[in-house]
Amino acid sequence: MPATVMVVEDEPAIQELIAFNLKQAGHFIMAAPSAEQASRMIKETLPDLILLDWMLPGMSGIEFARKIKGDSYTKAIPVIMLTARGEEQDKVKGLETGADDYVTKPFSPRELNARIKAVLRRRAPQMTDELVEVAGLALDPLTHRVTGHSAPVTLGPTEFRLLHFFMTHPERVHSRSQLLDSVWGNQAYVEERTVDVHIRRLRRALEPTRHDALVQTIRGAGYRLSQRI
Ligand code: CA
Repeated sequence: MPATVMVVEDEPAIQELIAFNLKQAGHFIMAAPSAEQASRMIKETLPDLILLDWMLPGMSGIEFARKIKGDSYTKAIPVIMLTARGEEQDKVKGLETGADDYVTKPFSPRELNARIKAVLRRRAPQMTDELVEVAGLALDPLTHRVTGHSAPVTLGPTEFRLLHFFMTHPERVHSRSQLLDSVWGNQAYVEERTVDVHIRRLRRALEPTRHDALVQTIRGAGYRLSQRI
């Protein structure tokens, strides 16, 4: 499952190593050398997961983790702390601030990938059968039913998966290629403009209850489901 992973790490060599390995594993990377820069980037795009170094110049990793978990806009993003070896106290403190996991340096790329996978699996709501609801639009993965203010909405299978993905990843921008990876899977012959076709169908189906306004086009970047205009 490809994800957008933010890597907050001030040491360029480690940053590069992590980015290289995560790209190999199919993830998209948002690299930030400091918590301050990461904060600015998050305002533009919400990552699916944050890898956060403990020791950072300026705001420390632990302070930043606290900030992420204390803000309703970002608190659902899983955080994996990167800590130096053997600092047991730090691990405890990190988990207390709401970090989802920690990895001790030096770590192997395999270990890091496994941890990321585990956290994403635990936190990825589109892998579960939970009912999701946004602004009166409800989707039930078990019964495949979608309703807008209780009125039934009829969707094709691709539009259903697309909407499910959007509703479980709200407020972040997804590029066409990310949507292809996440919704269509790795089908080699699907072109990016196919995404636009299904977005149009999805919007049309949501028009009667005005929920089409939730599906927003971000010029030059992709699409986003948002309650904010
Ligand atoms: Ca550091």
